[in-house]
Formats: sequence, structure tokens, C-alpha cells
Amino acid sequence: MNGSVGAGVDEFELIRRHLAALGATRSDVVLGPGDDAALVQAPPGRQLAMTMDTVLAGRHFPHDLPADSVGHRALAVNLSDLAAMGAEPAWALMSLAMPSADETWLAEFAQGLGDLARRFDVAVAGGDLVQGPLAVSIQLTGFAPARGALRRDGARVGDEVWVSGALGGAMAALEGGLEETRVRDPGLHARFAAPQPRVNLGRELVGIASSAIDVSDGLAADLLHVLDASGVGAAVRSEDVPVDPGASGYLSSARALELALSGGDDYELCFTAPPDRADAVREAASSCDLQVSRIGYCVAGTGLSITAGGRSLVLKGKGWNHFGAGQ
Ligand SMILES: [Mg+2]
Repeated sequence: MNGSVGAGVDEFELIRRHLAALGATRSDVVLGPGDDAALVQAPPGRQLAMTMDTVLAGRHFPHDLPADSVGHRALAVNLSDLAAMGAEPAWALMSLAMPSADETWLAEFAQGLGDLARRFDVAVAGGDLVQGPLAVSIQLTGFAPARGALRRDGARVGDEVWVSGALGGAMAALEGGLEETRVRDPGLHARFAAPQPRVNLGRELVGIASSAIDVSDGLAADLLHVLDASGVGAAVRSEDVPVDPGASGYLSSARALELALSGGDDYELCFTAPPDRADAVREAASSCDLQVSRIGYCVAGTGLSITAGGRSLVLKGKGWNHFGAGQ
């Protein structure tokens, strides 16, 4: 790690106190933070899976989001990308920009990030700390499954479309007010404040799923990435989409469904599998204590058709509406 957080502040001392031993202790980290670069020992013969995401205050999360949640989310979004590949996370590099040398904030940030990193055996092997508008970039490396990674381009006509967990909760918590949901419905609040990346499910789905993606931008947008990459279309029944039950406490059922379809930030997995692997899908989910829902199937052609009560829905602005209905 190296860094600069402003004149008169010993950034190296800040790093030493809060960021130097972040996350899991791994024997394959030969040299961790403190030198010009970290050294890691890759397993022989394994492909590495690498991903990187930056989260900005005011854009990806509110400025006043508690620091432990900022740390948790910054790593969770990267873990979710490796989950979608069926990969096993191992090493992270982090770049943190913060407006001032606020040690209390930094300690809570490190706690949130470190707790999640240890849970998934991720070592933060290095990074830097700079003064600037609050932003966190994390680069996460893991091991691709030996049997081949889950990719976006593997869906075939006839495959069924599945999604884990429930959708729309993260955006419902934002719309309901993070402070209010924290008090009234901590489960819903956590959908935004502490999303749970589906790393174990992704690994269980290797050899079962034909394609996968994590739901970061919204089910419809993310499923469309899979369809485009695979050269197929899909038909989804909105009645089969698992809407977060907590969302109905704050929003109309129509709005909750809109957020489930296009809200984003849920970090569930959307994946496809041949129909004869449905039992294997359910077993994989059950071994991770997760629900999975079969929401549709892949068809010849392109694009995504979503129906409600047999009528087509179309995307209007940020929401899905009945095709041809009003507005
Ligand atoms: Mg992703």
C-alpha cells in the first residue's frame, strides 16, 4: 500500500493501523502490503478470474451511508462478479479515495470490508489511499473453476431461466429511506446496506448452468446481456419473478415488481440451465440455503419478452408498463 491523504497526515501510519492486514490470512500471499507490489502464488494449471469495480459516493451509494456498509458493498459487488463466473475469490487490491483523514470512518470501513473478506477467504494484498471525493476501487482475483467458468454466452434455445433469492429489495430500501428501513425492516435495509454475494451458489452451479450473470443493473438489463452474448431470446413471466417481500411494506405491488425487473443492486444470480438439470439446480441452491425461481425459458431469436397476465410489458423510462397502456 502507498498513499497520500493530505499534508500533515501520516498516510502510511493510517494504512498500517487500518488497512495493512485486511481480510483473510492466506498462505498463497507470499508478500502482502508494504512493498512496491504484492506477491502471490497462483495454483499451477488454474486459470485466474479477475474483475474490478469502482463505487462512487453520490452515484453508487448515498454520501451518508455508514462506513462499514461502504466497505462491505465495495467488496460485495466484486465478489458478486466472481460468483457469476463460478470462480473462487482469493486476492483483492484496493484503492480508497477519502475526503479527509477520518480515522473513525476508516476503522469502520475496514471492519465492514474485512469481515466480508474473511468470510470468503479473501486477502487484501495491497492498494493505496489518496485524498479525494469518496470512492473505492477494488480489483479482485480468484480461481476459475477447473471445469470451465460460467459465462454469459452459453445459453441455448430451450434452456430455462432462473434467478436466486428475491429481487427489488435493494432499491426498495433506498426508496423507502435507508434510515427508516433500518429501524422498521432491517432485513430489507440489509439488501442495500449489506448485499450477500452468491459466491457459493455460483460455484455449485458449475457444470449445471449453461450461462450466468449477477443482477447488478436490474434483472431485465442483465438477462439481456446474457441473451445478446448467447444469440438467443427469452420469455419471462413476471408472475414467476421473485419480488422481495419486504418491498411491499413500502411500495405498491406494481412498483415493487418494477424494481424487481429493473431496479438493480440485488446481487443475485440470474442463470440458464437445460430443462433436464432443473433438479440439479434446486439441489445446488438448497445446499447453499438459497431459494431459486424458474422465471422463463430461452427461445430462438433475440430480445426479452416479459408478460404480466399474458400481456406484454415494455420498458418505459425506468419502469415496465403494460404494452400500449396509457402514459
Ligand atoms: Mg456483473
